[in-house]
Amino acid sequence: MAEISEEYQLSPSSWNRFEECPRKYWLSRQRLPRKASMAASLGNVIHNSMEEICNLDFEDYDDSKVGWLSNLMKETIDKHWSLEKEIFLNTPRRPSWKSQSIGKAREGLVGALNILFSKTRHAGKKFSEISVKDWKEIKSIILSNEESLISNDGRLIGRLDLLIDNLDEDGNSRGWIVADLKTGKPPNSKLNEKVTRQLLFYRDLLKETKPNHPKVSAEGWYSSNQKIYSTDGEFVLNDAILAWNQMKLTKAPPVSTPSEDACGFCEFKAWCPDWWISRDRGHLSDRNTFRDEVVKIVKFDESSGAARFERQSPVGSEGELTSSEISFGAFIKGRALIQLKEIFSSDYEGALFLGSVRSQGQIIHLGDWSEILPWSPLLESIR
Ligand code: SF4
Repeated sequence: MAEISEEYQLSPSSWNRFEECPRKYWLSRQRLPRKASMAASLGNVIHNSMEEICNLDFEDYDDSKVGWLSNLMKETIDKHWSLEKEIFLNTPRRPSWKSQSIGKAREGLVGALNILFSKTRHAGKKFSEISVKDWKEIKSIILSNEESLISNDGRLIGRLDLLIDNLDEDGNSRGWIVADLKTGKPPNSKLNEKVTRQLLFYRDLLKETKPNHPKVSAEGWYSSNQKIYSTDGEFVLNDAILAWNQMKLTKAPPVSTPSEDACGFCEFKAWCPDWWISRDRGHLSDRNTFRDEVVKIVKFDESSGAARFERQSPVGSEGELTSSEISFGAFIKGRALIQLKEIFSSDYEGALFLGSVRSQGQIIHLGDWSEILPWSPLLESIR
């Protein structure tokens, strides 16, 4: 397959994307418009607030001072919330901003700090009782914070949330902990394959970049339930290099591996014909309350937002479509209505990708949670 010559590096997230579906990874490198999500923004706010608090210098403060941490947490979250909101609102592909989720960001930071405290003798202490001296002690176990790592050959990169000195009850080091802060849904029992791969990657990349390391363990810190999930396993960097060799950008798209997991939240469906073919063949479910569609407009009333769409069936493997006998009525409002009006008033007459429509009987609903894009299967790299 023709390759496009370009320097590139494998990160844990790009590796995971490639393993999920090589085509998803290929599409992610096409500089297509990225989609903002509330979950990603919430994660950024918690990560950036945690990083900032852990980096503050308290050298000139009175060691006995208490009652400062809660205020600092609130100010820091508020600051990063407004920074993140601005980035989010300036991203064209986005749902609506949920102001009420700031409570979750605050809870996330509380969870992350409580996990950090649990690694010291200040476990369970109230934030209002943490003195500057206590904080200095807590901070002393952080060996690095948001450190960028790069392998000796330059092909593998990663940004480590926290490197922690693993102290015993007497304050003696038992080794290091590579800790990755997780702000999403915690696992039911054990870490999934993606998170495990990511944690072991950080562990092994750290060992390579710091040859004089002591024993290193890897942990996922889940802020929402304040629990630590450890993982262990074989050395993974050889597998990462094997993947790196297959991740060179090619002119033609690589094969896809559609699945409920990979396609579920894939943001590149408007550019990928394969999920729609899989759905048509019954390999992917079309029975979810929220689903995606590929349609043509039969009728659209701009003032009321009422529409009728006809589903388009795939033919061939390159995104070609044909009419089907399936049509449904739709009520469209919010951001989805703005998008459809823009497309309707342009010269575009082709099929549409409808992302995340809510179905209710024979009717579908689209709103701030949905998106409408021209159906544009990408069959050759535009890099
Ligand atoms: S929609 Fe599914 S098959 Fe297509 S790129 Fe995304 S994950 Fe792969």
